[in-house]
Amino acid sequence: MRAGREELLLERARLDTASPNDVIEWAFSRFPSDRRVVVTGLQADGVAVADMAIAADPSVRVLTIDTGRLPEATHRYLDALRAHWGRGIEVVLPESAEVESFVGGHGSNPFRRSVALRLDCCRIRKVAPLERVLAGVDCWMTGLRRGQSERRATTSVIDIDERHGGVVKVNPVATWREDAVTEYLTQRSVPLHPLYDAGYRSIGCAPCTRAVAPMRTPARAAGGGRTESTRSVGCT
Ligand code: SF4
Repeated sequence: MRAGREELLLERARLDTASPNDVIEWAFSRFPSDRRVVVTGLQADGVAVADMAIAADPSVRVLTIDTGRLPEATHRYLDALRAHWGRGIEVVLPESAEVESFVGGHGSNPFRRSVALRLDCCRIRKVAPLERVLAGVDCWMTGLRRGQSERRATTSVIDIDERHGGVVKVNPVATWREDAVTEYLTQRSVPLHPLYDAGYRSIGCAPCTRAVAPMRTPARAAGGGRTESTRSVGCT
């Protein structure tokens, strides 16, 4: 069931100033539970959306993609989130045959040799798994925010994701600032990815992400901590 464009544009205008919880409630009322999913890369914004979604529907599908190159800290963090929420988190892996062929032909770290190989690696490990997931749903929820980058400055709360066959993309915290996300997670006692404390601002594959500056949490803000300045050198 793909949503009608006109209906969604009307809803988008209505929900643009709504709270994230209201946006999530709209998605839940609009799409049946087996046709919607929260997809998170386990960064603070996506985890906040997952937490809100779980609060509204404890059985909501929450999913992350394990590229096979994630840092060990991310696997530990997944365990911490499972323990915190008292439920599972789906993990989607790349097609093993594709990874085997790619690594067999180009080695374990070909992304260091060319942009083309980096894009191929991302396509196999991230893009294709996400496409497989989205082929089976009508709605996906993300932690995209307008403040994350210039490219995302016009992110809508609700969008039609033409790159993924017209699935509805819901970004409940699109209008939130980073401070609001971290404050929400602190108030809810949801753990943050441990690499934020190590100075990572964008957390993805271990070989393609590096520490740059600490995240601004409420505690750090009180102490004059630095604000947004991030960079992943991966393909996201
Ligand atoms: S971020 Fe790096 S390791 Fe991860 S899929 Fe992309 S190129 Fe490969």
